Amino acid sequence: MNLSGARGLIRVAHNPTCELQAAMTLARVREQDVYRALAGADYPGEYGERVSARRRGAQFEKNLYKDGAAVLRGTLAPLLGVAAEDLTVRDLSAEVRGSSAAAMEERARRTDRLLADLAAGRNVPDLLIQPQLRLTLAGDPASAIFIAPDVLALDRARRAYLPVEIKSFIVRDGVVAQGDRDGARRQAAIQLLALEQELTPLGIADRLPEAAMFIFASPFGMRPHPAFAEQLPAELFEMRRALDTMAQVRARLQALGVAATTDAEALAAAAPQLATTYQESCVAGCMLAQICRQNAAAQPTILGDRAAQTLGETIDLPRALALLRGAPATDEREAWLGPALREAAALFDWSTVVQGRAA
Ligand code: SF4
Repeated sequence: MNLSGARGLIRVAHNPTCELQAAMTLARVREQDVYRALAGADYPGEYGERVSARRRGAQFEKNLYKDGAAVLRGTLAPLLGVAAEDLTVRDLSAEVRGSSAAAMEERARRTDRLLADLAAGRNVPDLLIQPQLRLTLAGDPASAIFIAPDVLALDRARRAYLPVEIKSFIVRDGVVAQGDRDGARRQAAIQLLALEQELTPLGIADRLPEAAMFIFASPFGMRPHPAFAEQLPAELFEMRRALDTMAQVRARLQALGVAATTDAEALAAAAPQLATTYQESCVAGCMLAQICRQNAAAQPTILGDRAAQTLGETIDLPRALALLRGAPATDEREAWLGPALREAAALFDWSTVVQGRAA
């Protein structure tokens, strides 16, 4: 799985203090290659998005875009305050087909021209399907990645495009699964940041709201649930922080003499010098979780985020065990923690559990 693009940035936002993950995103190496270089063996589990989920998503989008984007226009019309039949559409995925670098460059050029038209007050389409934006990751144009919103929708009153994130997740009783919704919001936030970068030199970035539109599926086949718009200040904060992390890690790699566009082996060789911050989300989100868990063996984080929060940064597991056994406290935190651990242990048969482990 390649960590470039929006997926990599979202992962960095989840764990912004992990330099290794940010370095993998910057270098655009495949996670499984870094795993092989570090572990000396292929990754033993499954990875990647399920083919069936990808197919359903593609079919859902196709349904929205067909027949002159009739369903898309009908879904967004109430939000945009324009009759569906009056919404004009340009489909860049139909104009320039394929996912080659050349095709993406061409879609990016066409998107740039449309944004320049928007800034100049010329007519632009209300709906722009599959535009291509660029997002600079670490303050260097060479680090730019392509970000492809599903659709950009024009707010005519504001003369600004908003990202429209389309997902085939099903909305039931007005609710979509929290994880699905959070992921879609983060993706939309990245698209807003890319738009902001594109619009800043054109002098119209101030028109951008901190909001995006969302189209999810209804429980009835491929029919969309009514579209809605949401403000994304928290996600924008997270993603800006992720961009800061990328810039810091780029500088760190330079200091270590590692090129930002390195390969998996070179990155694995530099890994011991890059900080990793193992946490619960690593298990579901990163192929290196098992390796990082082993490296974090004495840290409370291997017991979960709650344990890590309780013990804090200064108390590792051997120290916690010592406090549990009655070692004198050396500071206020330890003075609170020792009795609390003993109280908790009294609820269990800790004499066998803890002493057995320590033996
Ligand atoms: S598993 Fe390791 S490399 Fe991956 S995010 Fe967690 S700490 Fe970072």
